[in-house]
Amino acid sequence: MTPQRSEHVAVYPGSFDPLTLGHDDIIRRGLRIVDRLIVAVAETSTQDKRALFTIEERVQVIASVYANEAALEVVSFSGLLVDFARSRDARLIIRGLRAVSDFEYEFQMALMNRSLWPELDVIFMAPDNRYTFLSASLVREVARLGGDVSEYVPPAVLERMVERFGPPARGDA
Ligand code: ADP
Repeated sequence: MTPQRSEHVAVYPGSFDPLTLGHDDIIRRGLRIVDRLIVAVAETSTQDKRALFTIEERVQVIASVYANEAALEVVSFSGLLVDFARSRDARLIIRGLRAVSDFEYEFQMALMNRSLWPELDVIFMAPDNRYTFLSASLVREVARLGGDVSEYVPPAVLERMVERFGPPARGDA
């Protein structure tokens, strides 16, 4: 009999305020290499006064974007990421690396998390070149100032941003 390997379950944690095409790129890459992917929206950012969407809104919109992906689940979590991952028996964490500037913090966090739970491994994934400059905070800022963010977020997210901020100001008006 072929030995059964256990399922590879990974958590992709973040604030996803909002979900961008950079996140989407990492999610789709992740789905190709793991059996199940849990997109985990961190509740710590609720206290952030600069938050755009509530945790529930973020979970809802992410669920709608990936409604056809049976291997993907989206939830929110609070407390330590390792505690959440352990509770789901997920021994892999996926993180996106945009540039060297992300590296130091991510590396530190990976080692800290693994020291808290030695069975954990962290996979760093590079996004497509088009998204290396993209961050949720930049998208929030551009949208707040009336800029067009349609090239940076999935259509379902854009819809909600337009509801919140109105249509982007026309530069040629
Ligand atoms: P942000 O840094 O955009 O506010 P999050 O805190 O939600 O995003 O990040 C969650 C994870 O997604 C992190 O690992 C972060 O490095 C990664 N990530 C965010 N934006 C991108 C992007 N454009 N390309 C690749 N990874 C990204």
